Amino acid sequence: MHSTTRVQLDLAALRHNYNQIKQIADSSKAYAVVKSDAYGHGLLRIAKGLHDADGFALIQMDDLRALRESGIWKPVLLLEGVMDASDLLDAAILKAEVVLRSEAQLQMIEKTSVALKQPLAIWLKVNTGMNRFGFPPAQIEEVMQRLASNSSVKLKGVMTHFACADDLDCEIEGQWRVFHEVVRRYQLPFTAANSAAILRDQRTHGEVVRAGSLIYGNNPFSQAMPVGYDFRPVMSLRSEIIGLSNLQKGDALGYGASFVADRPMLIGLVGCGYGDGYPYTAPTGTPVLVKGNLTRVVGKVAMNVMAVDLTEVGRVGLGDPVVLWGDHQLPISEVSKYSGVLSEALECGLTKRLPVCLI
Ligand code: PLP
Repeated sequence: MHSTTRVQLDLAALRHNYNQIKQIADSSKAYAVVKSDAYGHGLLRIAKGLHDADGFALIQMDDLRALRESGIWKPVLLLEGVMDASDLLDAAILKAEVVLRSEAQLQMIEKTSVALKQPLAIWLKVNTGMNRFGFPPAQIEEVMQRLASNSSVKLKGVMTHFACADDLDCEIEGQWRVFHEVVRRYQLPFTAANSAAILRDQRTHGEVVRAGSLIYGNNPFSQAMPVGYDFRPVMSLRSEIIGLSNLQKGDALGYGASFVADRPMLIGLVGCGYGDGYPYTAPTGTPVLVKGNLTRVVGKVAMNVMAVDLTEVGRVGLGDPVVLWGDHQLPISEVSKYSGVLSEALECGLTKRLPVCLI
C-alpha cells in the first residue's frame, strides 16, 4: 500500500556519528543510548545498525529482553536500574549492568541477591546536583560498605548525570568537582558524560560515555552546534504533495482561516500532519523542502495534511517529494526552533504506524 508519509533512516550516518564519538572519546567505551525505542528510531533497527558499538544504555526491561532475544549480547547499562525482584533476577541472567540510584533499590538488592545465580554488575549513582536520583556523596562510603559485604554484587564503578551540559552558558564544573572527588577518593572507574559533555569536557569521558542525541545526528546543545564537528542526521521525515490550491489575494486557508493570502499564491498540500507526529505548533514560516527547494509551512497544521507555499518554487506536481526534517538543508533543529518542540521529542512523537525505510 502506498503511504504518503514515511520515515527514512540513514544507517551509514548512524555508524558515522558513532565513529565520530569514538574518535572524540578515544580512551572510553561508548554506549549508544537507545531508550524510548532508540529516541523514536526503533530499538532493534538502531542496535542492529550499530553492530560495532561497545554497548547500549536503556531503561525498560522489555527493551533489554528484546535485545537479548534478537541475539545482541553486548553490554547493556540499565540507566534507572531495577525496580523489583523479578527485574533483578532477569537483569543478572541477561547480563545487564545496573545503575543503583536509591535506598529502596539497595534494600531490594540486599533482600533478593541471595537468589542470584551470577553476580550483578552495579554502577553506583552519585547525586552531584541533578537532584533526581543517586546517593549524596556523604552516603557513598556507607553504600559501598553494604555492597562490599554482598558477594552477589560486583561494583563496576560510579556514575553521575549532568543537569545542564546542554546549555553552553551553564557550567558543569560544580557537578564535575563533586563527582571527581568521589572518583578520586575511591579510585573507581566512572561514567558521567552524555552527548553534550562528550563534546564539552574530555575530563568527563571516563570508562564509558553514554551518547544519545549525537548518535542520531542531533545537536545536543540549546545553542548552535560548535563548529568543527561532523554529525549527520539519521532520521528524515518524508512526504509528498497530494494536492494544489490557488489562492487569490484575500483568500483564507484551512482551519480557523488563520492564514490569509496577501497576494496570489500557489499552495501545495502535503500528506502529513499532527496525526503522523508533525508538530501542530509549527507556525507559518516553518521551513520545509519541496523537490529540494527550501520553502515554508503556511496556515495551521491539520491532522493529516499541511500546506506549504509553492509560489516561488517553480514547477511542482502531485507526488513530488517533500522533506519535513532531516536533510542537511533542513536539520530537525530548525523545526524544533519554530515549533518549540525539542528535536528528540519530535522524533519520539512520530506515530509508530509510519513506514520506515532504511538506506
Ligand atoms: N545518560 C543518561 C542517564 C540519560 O538519561 C541520557 C538521556 O537522557 C543520556 C545519558 C544520553 O543523553 P544525550 O541524548 O544528551 O546524549
